[in-house]
Amino acid sequence: MNLESNANLYVILQSGFPADRQAVAIETPERTYSWRDIDELSGRMANLLRSLDVAAGSRVAVQVDKSPEALMLYLATLRAGLVYLPLNTAYHEAEVTYFLEDAEPAVVVCSESARVWCEPLAHRKGAARVFTLNADGQGSLMQAAAGHGPVFETARNAPDDLAAILYTSGTTGRSKGAMLTHANLASNALTLKAYWGWRSDDVLLHMLPIFHVHGLFVASHGALLAGARMIWLPRLDVDRALHYLPRCTLMMGVPTYYVRLLADARFDREACSNMRLFISGSAPLLVDTFREFQARSGMTILERYGMSETGMIASNPYDPARGERLPGTVGPALPGITVRVVDDADMAVPVGEPGHVQVRGPNVFAGYWRMPEKTRQEFTPDGWFRTGDIGALGGAGIPDDYLSIVGRSKDLIITGGYNVYPKEIEMVIDAMPGIQESAVIGIPHADFGEAVVAVVVPRAGAAVDTQAMLADLKIGLANFKVPKQIHVADALPRNAMGKVQKNVLRQQYTGQH
Ligand code: AMP
Repeated sequence: MNLESNANLYVILQSGFPADRQAVAIETPERTYSWRDIDELSGRMANLLRSLDVAAGSRVAVQVDKSPEALMLYLATLRAGLVYLPLNTAYHEAEVTYFLEDAEPAVVVCSESARVWCEPLAHRKGAARVFTLNADGQGSLMQAAAGHGPVFETARNAPDDLAAILYTSGTTGRSKGAMLTHANLASNALTLKAYWGWRSDDVLLHMLPIFHVHGLFVASHGALLAGARMIWLPRLDVDRALHYLPRCTLMMGVPTYYVRLLADARFDREACSNMRLFISGSAPLLVDTFREFQARSGMTILERYGMSETGMIASNPYDPARGERLPGTVGPALPGITVRVVDDADMAVPVGEPGHVQVRGPNVFAGYWRMPEKTRQEFTPDGWFRTGDIGALGGAGIPDDYLSIVGRSKDLIITGGYNVYPKEIEMVIDAMPGIQESAVIGIPHADFGEAVVAVVVPRAGAAVDTQAMLADLKIGLANFKVPKQIHVADALPRNAMGKVQKNVLRQQYTGQH
C-alpha cells in the first residue's frame, strides 16, 4: 500500500463504488439506499462525530440491531478516524459493563430499549456522548446527524492506525479486544475481492449480524468494494431468503443457515438459478451438509476459515483453475497469507498430521487491546500468530496446501456460528449456591452445529433445581451462551493430571438432548 496516499479503509472501499451513485446499494424489504445515500448519510454522521471533538483513535461502542443506518455508522466512524467497537446485541448489562470499562469508549450508541441502563452506565464509564439507533433506523443519532451536512472529507489515516476492535470471548472468562488496523481490513477485503471474483453486478443476500467479522467485514466490505448491491435482512429468515434468492448471485452464511435452507422443501435448483456462489464459515460445515446441498441445489458451497484476529485466512477456491472445493477442508491459505501447522515446539509437523495452526500476513491484527502480555503469548518469537485451532495440511488424498480444521486447542464451543467459551459459563455456574463444580461442553446438534450443555456437581447434601438455574443464567448471559440442558452428576471425570475429561463428558451426553 502506498504510504503517501490515505490508508483510511473508507477511501479504499469507496474506490469500488460505481460511477452511477444513484444506483441501489442496499435494499431492505422496506426501502432502498443508493450509493449517494451511503456517502451522504455516513458523511452526516462523520460530521456529527467530529463535532463532538473527541480525540482521534477514540472508540465508538455500538450495540444496536442490524440496519443500513448501523452500517453507515460504522463507515462514519472510519471516516472520522475513530475506532469502531461493535457489540453483540445479545449481550446483557453485566457483559456490556465489562466492555465499556475495558475499552473506555468516547461515544456509545445503543437501542432506545437499552437506553435506560446503557446511558447511565456509559456516562459512569466516562463516555462523552450516548446516542440511540433503533432497528428501523430511527433514534437520537439520526436526529443529531440530520443537523449536519452530507459532505465530509475523510480523515487521513496511516495503514497501522486502528480501525476497529472486535471483542472475542476469553478462555479465562475475560474477553480480549482484537485491534484491527485499516491495513488489516483493507488487505483482506482486496484479497477476497479478487479471490472470490466479486463483480459489480453481484447481488449479495446479507442475513448475517454486523457485530462480527463475517457480516461486517467479509460480507459488507466485499459488496462495498465491488460496488455490488446488498439485499439486507435483519437475520436468517428462510421465507424471505427463498423470496430473494432468485435475484441474488451470492450468499454468505454460517453452517446453520445452510442446514435451515435444506430443511425447507421449497429450496431447490430453481431457487438458486441466478446464484454463482454460496460461502460458509465461522464454524465447521459438515460434509453431509455440503453433499446434501450439492445434490439439492447443484451448487458447491465454498468453505473458508478465519477469525476476528485475522479476518479470512484460508478459502476453498472459487476459480476451478485454482483447484476443487473439497468438503471437510477450508482450502489453501489466501494469496499473501501463510499458514503453517506445528507441534508444541513450533516445529512443522509432517503432511496430514494435526498440529497447531499458525498464520502470518498483512491480515494479522495488531494485538489485544491493553493486553501486551497476552499478545506476546499468542505470537511465536518469529512473528506467527497462534490461532488456537488444530488443523492439518494435506493428507488423505487432499492437496498439500489445503488446510483442514480438526479441532480447537482453546476450549471453545461454536453454536449457531457464535463462540462460547465454557470457562465464562462455568464461572457463573460455580458461583451459584449448592454447586460444587461444573463443566460446560459442546455436543453435536443438527441445527446449531454444537449445543451448549452443562454438567453440574452439587455440594454434599445440596438439592439442585436445574430449571431455576437456567432461569438465573438467562438473566446474566446472552441467550446463545445459556446451556440448552443442565445435567446433574456425582463427579466429573478427570485424567491423571486432574484435568476434567471433557471428551468423556461429550461422549456421555451426546444424543441426550
Ligand atoms: P470468530 O473470531 O468469532 O470468527 O471465531 C473464529 C473461530 O471460528 C476460529 O478460530 C475457528 O475455531 C472457527 N472457525 C471459523 N471458520 C471455521 C471453519 N470454516 N471451520 C472450522 N472452524 C472455523
